[in-house]
Amino acid sequence: MIEALPAAPRSRTFPVLVGGVTVGGGAPVVVQSMANTDTADAAGTAAQVLELARAGSELVRITVNVDEAAAAVPEIRRRLDDAGCAVPLIGDFHYNGHLLLARHPACASALAKFRINPGNVGRGRRHDEQFATICGVARELGKPVRIGVNAGSLDPDLVMARMQENTDRDLGLDSDQILEQCMLESALASTEAALAAGLTENQIVISCKVSRPSHLIAVYRELARRTRQPLHLGLTEAGMGMKGLVWSSTAMGVLLAEGIGDTIRVSLTPRPGGDRREEVFAACEILQSLGIRSFQPQVTACPGCGRTTSTTFQELAQRVEEHVKAHLPEWKARYEGVEELKLAVMGCVVNGPGESKAADIGISLPGTGEAPTCPVFVDGRQFATLTGTYDELARRFLAIVDDYVATRYPRRAPADEA
Ligand code: SF4
Repeated sequence: MIEALPAAPRSRTFPVLVGGVTVGGGAPVVVQSMANTDTADAAGTAAQVLELARAGSELVRITVNVDEAAAAVPEIRRRLDDAGCAVPLIGDFHYNGHLLLARHPACASALAKFRINPGNVGRGRRHDEQFATICGVARELGKPVRIGVNAGSLDPDLVMARMQENTDRDLGLDSDQILEQCMLESALASTEAALAAGLTENQIVISCKVSRPSHLIAVYRELARRTRQPLHLGLTEAGMGMKGLVWSSTAMGVLLAEGIGDTIRVSLTPRPGGDRREEVFAACEILQSLGIRSFQPQVTACPGCGRTTSTTFQELAQRVEEHVKAHLPEWKARYEGVEELKLAVMGCVVNGPGESKAADIGISLPGTGEAPTCPVFVDGRQFATLTGTYDELARRFLAIVDDYVATRYPRRAPADEA
């Protein structure tokens, strides 16, 4: 028998409560994203956070870099609460987090977690003091932190020391291996420092982000072996469009399939004027593709080939996708488990009936030379045979889908309907 994806080591991590969302301890892998607005613009930031949350982001990180940004955080929280959005906000701090958190207690209270980059908290003794100050605020408020190591901003003193050691002791490590070692050392030493500052294991999430998939896989495998803190997974600076999607999916897919990663973010660079929610959609698709979580009905469609001489099945697949997307908020509010729905729209008899039978509802369009009829399968059995124009086919197939959703999934109690 083929085994399901392993839950361990995910199930061995400590649970960390971030606002109302549990990260780690075997909880479902959490989707997160980061706003790219100027945080000082409370209205604009709250609007984007709301969009990200409605797209499926369960945690949203915002930049807290200057006093104006810190001062705006309580207003952003208030606006979200007023809109009925409880998504926890994470503050991203670099260089001056110790000052901003001390100067803006309302900001500290409004945030659900503080992200600390140990490479950007000062150097030497000041590093230790400033790191401890941020952890102290978290301890006093009972908030968690993420120790977010990044290959692009490693502690230069640590890197120099390990380079020197490599030379002095003739260890034969290449620069990538030294950087990987420094990242692990920084994350694990910072975890010890956070514990020494009074945080508990249930208040610390770790990340070690790099920009190349093979390195990310190596670093996180080692992290998972050496710590039980929950891991935030993400390929940093993944890039734009296709490249960012493929590299992020490749790297995170391998790790998630091995049970590594408690929360994920896909760091896509948006096109100018692009949709920030794409990183949320991508994260949901990665988790759903691995069967780790379900967010929306799946529409399986074949790519088409020389057996399909018309674009009818492509148009139908697109129309089904759009229909599902348009109705999903209402379906999710009304019907329990509808995100598990599986649909298939196939181009010919070669794989059409097989995929259609494997789905909850599937349609197989006629390929070249096939009879102009479209068998529809429901729960693995032939349910109807549709004929007619493209528009008639689409309307009748979507009516079967709507009817299936309304009768197959239990209706939520009225009080639960959002
Ligand atoms: S199902 Fe038919 S049309 Fe679709 S890719 Fe396979 S052979 Fe081609």
